Parts: sequence; C-alpha cells; structure tokens
Amino acid sequence: MITKEQCEQMDLADPLAPLRDQFVIAPGTIYLDGNSLGLSTYATQQRVADTAATQWAVDGIKSWNTADWINLPVTVGNKIAALIGATKGTTICCDSISVNLFKLICLAKQAKPERFKIISTTDNFGTDLYIVQGLQQLLDQGELQLVTVDESELAQHIDSDTLLVMATQVNFRTGNLLDVASLTASAHSKGAMMLVDLAHSAGALPVHLDQCNVDFAVGCTYKFLNGGPGAPGFAYVNANHLGKLAQPIYGWMGHSAPFDFSPEYTPSNSIKQLLTGTPPILSMAAIDAALDVFDGLDMHSIRMKSMALGNLLIAQIEQLGLLGELTLASPRDAEQRGSQVSFYHEHAYGLCQALIERGVIADFRAPNILRIGLTPLYLRYIDIANTAHHIAECLSNDEHLDCRWQTKNAVT
Ligand SMILES: *Cc1c(COP(=O)(O)O)cnc(C)c1O
Repeated sequence: MITKEQCEQMDLADPLAPLRDQFVIAPGTIYLDGNSLGLSTYATQQRVADTAATQWAVDGIKSWNTADWINLPVTVGNKIAALIGATKGTTICCDSISVNLFKLICLAKQAKPERFKIISTTDNFGTDLYIVQGLQQLLDQGELQLVTVDESELAQHIDSDTLLVMATQVNFRTGNLLDVASLTASAHSKGAMMLVDLAHSAGALPVHLDQCNVDFAVGCTYKFLNGGPGAPGFAYVNANHLGKLAQPIYGWMGHSAPFDFSPEYTPSNSIKQLLTGTPPILSMAAIDAALDVFDGLDMHSIRMKSMALGNLLIAQIEQLGLLGELTLASPRDAEQRGSQVSFYHEHAYGLCQALIERGVIADFRAPNILRIGLTPLYLRYIDIANTAHHIAECLSNDEHLDCRWQTKNAVT
C-alpha cells in the first residue's frame, strides 16, 4: 500500500505542484469535478471584477475598442488553439458545444452534399446526438442518417456514404480514450470527414488536431479549461476548409464587415464566420484569464501527472479491498483513459452525495457511475490517497445508504 507519507513525497517532487496556489480551493475540500466545472483561479476572479468595474462600468461601450473586446473570440480561440495542436486562426471561442456542433455538421454537409451518414457512438453525450436528430428534422428525408455504434467499432462502419465520423475523444462516462489519429485516417481513407468533440480533452491531454488532419472539432471551456459556469465553447475548422464553407446561422458577427450593416450577408472568410451574435464579454474575459495558467506548460507534463493520479486512485481502491464492491468503469491502462476514473456502484448516487458531504466533490452519472475527475493543475497525490480512504469509510459506515439520497437533486 502506498502510504500517505509517500504521497506527500510525490507532491514535493511534483513540478506542477506550485500551480495549485493559483486556484481558489474551498478549505477542507478535495475537488474532483474539474471535468464538469473547473475551479477558478484568483486571476480569473480579479479579471472578471476588473472587466465589470472598470471596463464596463467606467469605460462603457468604448471598451469594445479600448479593451479589444471585439477580438476576444479570436484571441481566446488562439490561446485554446495552442493547447489542441491547432494553428492560429483555426479556432474560435463562441457559443456552446451544442450550437457549434450544429454549425460544423452543416459545414460537413455543404462540403459533401451527396453523402448522408453520420457515424457516432451509442453512448456519446446526449447533446451530440440530439443536434444530429434536430438537423434531420430540417433536412429532407434521407439527407442525413445517424448511425450509432459501439466505440470500438467506429472505424469498421465507415463507408462510401459516410459524410462524417462524429466522435467524442474521451467518453464522459467511462473516460475511455479514442485514437483520433487513426480514426481520422480511417474516415479520410473512405472520403469521409472527421469531427471530434474535445469536451474532456482540451486542457487535460495533448491533442494534435492539425497533425491528425481532423476536419472539425468542438470543445468547452468550463471543464478542464476552467473558464467558468456556462462559459462559451470553441470550434475548430481545419485551415483547408476555411473560406470555402459557411455555417448557416448567419449573424452579423460572422459577416465580413459587421459594422457596414449591409442588408446582405457576406460571410467572413476567416474563422470569424463561425461567430453569430455578440460575444458574452464577462465570460470571455474569465476564460482569457483562466487560460493564462497554461502559459509555459506543456500538455505532456499535465498528461503524465493525470495518468499518475488515476493509477494511484485505482491502486488505492484496490489495496483497500474495494475493487469488488466498486467496479472499474474506466480502462485500467492509463494510456487508454482520459483524465478521470469512473467506477460502477449500485448506489453510486448515494456514495457521491456522501462523499460531497465529507468535502470530497466527486460526481455521479446515471444510472450507476461514480466519476472522479482528475485535474493535475490543482490536485495533489495526497488528495487522491485521502479520497480513497473517504470512499472506504463511506462504504463501511453505510453513509451511501442514507435516506436523504433517495431523491436526486435537479443537477446530478
Ligand atoms: C460537457 C459536454 C458537452 C456540453 O455541451 P454544451 O452544449 O457546451 O453544454 C457536450 N458534449 C460532451 C461530450 C460533453 O462532455
């Protein structure tokens, strides 16, 4: 059994350890939900306060120019691009994943109108599938077909009718990690396009969009990028497609000259065409500040620590004799896993609530998954060891069976 002392030694030797001090962490808590809502940095709090109190309250509308608010979607997009292996000018920060998926799927359809199949995974995040279903309602029958298959079978279903492979790189339930390079190559070998959802990848592991020649990608900023609740997401369009395709939610911010106020829509030929309406500046300012944490860091070192934290958690749970009552839902091999470890448990909701009551902020995914998000920027090895002990105590005291957990909260 790895002792708490050994974990403390690992923290002392951890090159990322000092980053924790940049984050606001409620005393007495272990925050394991950075894959759902990342924590705030002190700098982010300050930036939001300044944006409101100085730029908005004092400089008012001038700030669109003086504080360069108008370019925030692009400047923030470029900061994100650096984390996902994308060149400048191919990534923009706007809207939610859901809305961005709509736009990008339409781009794919424009590029290859004769193709109609979208291959995705049966257990993809709901919204990814709903957007396709909604789009099917808008199009004529037969123009778009959604085929959902097991994650392991994506490549074998791609055929000459396939328009798009739409995959989430890290499965939000299990943390299973897909090989984007090989999937993209398979899609392209059949003339199909590739759209990757990076919701649980961006800020958590190295991503190489350009290198893999991915066509389109989406992601959110409120998970591992710590942009804040409801912060806008991002969209990536491979440079090969930019200027050739136009997403259909024509809005003035995607116009080539928004302030001409011309009655006709002329699409911008840059990544700005992905924009629709006015950007939410307070949120954009928060993301912009939050991303500064990644300055000078390489995603490889974040990934190394993330894998080590995951391995430690699994080892501790096993050594405490709990890998019978809890079943590992995530791949055991860290290389096959994103930055989370999930366990099945019959009373996963109760267990999660009991942990939260102890200050261990884990999360639950229906129907029976306890999900532990691992954010290397602010989690310590000792936190993981303590988490395993809290889980053991909850279970042995039957805290997870408390009748208070019989009705679920609105947000789980
Ligand atoms: C979190 C998440 C989303 C969220 O979509 P929004 O439209 O930004 O709310 C979408 N897809 C996946 C895979 C996610 O994990």
